[in-house]
Amino acid sequence: MTNNELMKEDLKHIFHPCSQMKDYEKLPLIPIKKGKGSYIQDFDGNEYLDCISSWWVNIFGHSNDYINQKINEQIQDLEHVIFAGFTHKPAIDLAKRLVALTPEPLQKIFFADNGSSAIEIALKMAFQYFKNKGESRPLFVSLENSYHGETMGALAVSDSGMYKEIYEDILIKAIHAKTPSLHDEDVAIDDMRRVLSENKGKVSSVVIEPLIQCAGSMKMYDASYMKKLRALCDEFGVFLIADEIAVGFGRSGTMFAIEQADICPDFLCLSKGITGGYMPLSVVMFSNDIYDAFYCEYNEGKSFLDSHSYTGNTIACAVANAVLDIFENENIIEKNQEKIKLINEQTQKFKTLKNVQEVRQRGMVCAIELQGYESNRRINLEIFQEALKKGVYIRPLGNVVYFMPPYCFTNEQLTKMIDVTYEIVKSKL
Ligand SMILES: *Cc1c(COP(=O)(O)O)cnc(C)c1O
Repeated sequence: MTNNELMKEDLKHIFHPCSQMKDYEKLPLIPIKKGKGSYIQDFDGNEYLDCISSWWVNIFGHSNDYINQKINEQIQDLEHVIFAGFTHKPAIDLAKRLVALTPEPLQKIFFADNGSSAIEIALKMAFQYFKNKGESRPLFVSLENSYHGETMGALAVSDSGMYKEIYEDILIKAIHAKTPSLHDEDVAIDDMRRVLSENKGKVSSVVIEPLIQCAGSMKMYDASYMKKLRALCDEFGVFLIADEIAVGFGRSGTMFAIEQADICPDFLCLSKGITGGYMPLSVVMFSNDIYDAFYCEYNEGKSFLDSHSYTGNTIACAVANAVLDIFENENIIEKNQEKIKLINEQTQKFKTLKNVQEVRQRGMVCAIELQGYESNRRINLEIFQEALKKGVYIRPLGNVVYFMPPYCFTNEQLTKMIDVTYEIVKSKL
């Protein structure tokens, strides 16, 4: 079948995520037949360099031989088993390994199956921790321009414009403090202090995206803000939730972004790269102290009874273990440093263009913010389509073009990604 035939079949029944379906009248959907390494291939035989790791999840590219082998092995034994009352080796191994990779106080893990659910779990646990101790703390604090997912709780703590405003009437209460990505760091910390003191005793947690607000146009800030925020949360006795769903697993340059601030959050949420794009899986990590607040006789009513059908799926956990093997065996974090340097050097040339406002980078994320376009011109779609014709898949966010390549990109592929994009951005002057 051809791209066009499949697209027509698709549009008869499927409502796609994050899409105005009417856009597909002009912007063809692309049916993908195959993926291997850095490339995906459509049904007409066109190949595209996947420069955004398929929405930031395929950190080792597509159809990785080692992960494929590990899935095959796991499938012979067990694909899934109920995770209440039962357990399995891949989950136990994964828990042990994640605990070893993260700060020492994070000793316990709750499994879920997508990023938004991990956020819901952290918010619910933070709220219930205080409730179990006889306090009511119904407020949550997050940052301006933040994104934490699409389910109702995750949406409530997000500051995602149109995505959220529609549902405003039916959301739980969250307060947005100034973000260091848009203001001076000390201004942002002062604002957080104001919010926490005005709502003293009512806030259960502060949730942030460490170092990079990815969906919020790849806005970046310094690790020093996180250090100050950690101290502030301690001063006011509120939990700090680190949403590393996008930046975890090497994206920020280190395995986890919190390492750069040398802090330990009370809750750490991980997903996306955890299975290298193979399976939906997420985890929430927290301390023994938090765990103990829910540990009691069943009838005491303090249990944390959250559950999802696919929680701790066996294949997903086996894949996550394979992902951690690759990090170890191939020394990924260290090897990425060279790629990070190359991206930095080769994207400097964007700074000479008049339509470029800023080039920013943190680890394996690089963003080029454009300027000077009418707000109704969808420059992102123009750039997306032209890059696609040249075999480069990028997906600009508004007027921000960004790269989040898989870690398997060769130097030549990184250069192609940057040069093709540069020529297109230059042509839009
Ligand atoms: C993607 C994302 C989420 C939501 O994860 P889903 O798996 O899409 O539900 C939450 N927080 C951040 C920072 C994300 O990038």
